[in-house]
Amino acid sequence: MIEAALSVEVSGSSESFCDCCGAESRKLWGEVLDGQATAALYYIQWTVGSPNHFPNLDLVIGPWGEGFGPADRFLVSLLYRPDSAQGGFMVVDAEGRYANYLALCEKAFDRSEVVGTALASKVFSIVDAIWLGDPRLSDVKSLGDVA
Ligand SMILES: [Zn+2]
Repeated sequence: MIEAALSVEVSGSSESFCDCCGAESRKLWGEVLDGQATAALYYIQWTVGSPNHFPNLDLVIGPWGEGFGPADRFLVSLLYRPDSAQGGFMVVDAEGRYANYLALCEKAFDRSEVVGTALASKVFSIVDAIWLGDPRLSDVKSLGDVA
C-alpha cells in the first residue's frame, strides 16, 4: 500500500514541437518511490506558453523488479487544467495515451475505473508527490499565469 512517504526521483526530458501549432513542446519523466520501491513512473508533456493545451500527465502504476512485468502495471492518464488561482488535475481515459506505453504496462484505465474508487486516492497521492517533488514543473505551474 502507498503510505505517506512517497518521494520523487527525476529522470530524463526531451523537447519537440507541437503537432498542431508548432510551438515548443516539452516532456519530462521520473519515478515515484514508496520507500525504496518504485510505485509509478510518470511522464508529463506540455506545450510551452500554451495554457489552452492542457498538459498530459501519464502514470504507469505498479511494481518493478524481479518477478514483475507489464501485466502487473497499468496506465492512468490525467490532464492538467492551468488556472491562475488554482490549477487542477483531472483523470481522463488512458486509452488514447496507451500507444506510448505498450512495453511498460498491459492495461489502460478509463476515467470511470479510477474516479470514485480506492485507486483514486492512490493516484492523487502520486500526483501530489510529483507536483511537490519535481522542481522542473515550475514552467507547468506558471502556465496559468498567462491564461
Ligand atoms: Zn499546438
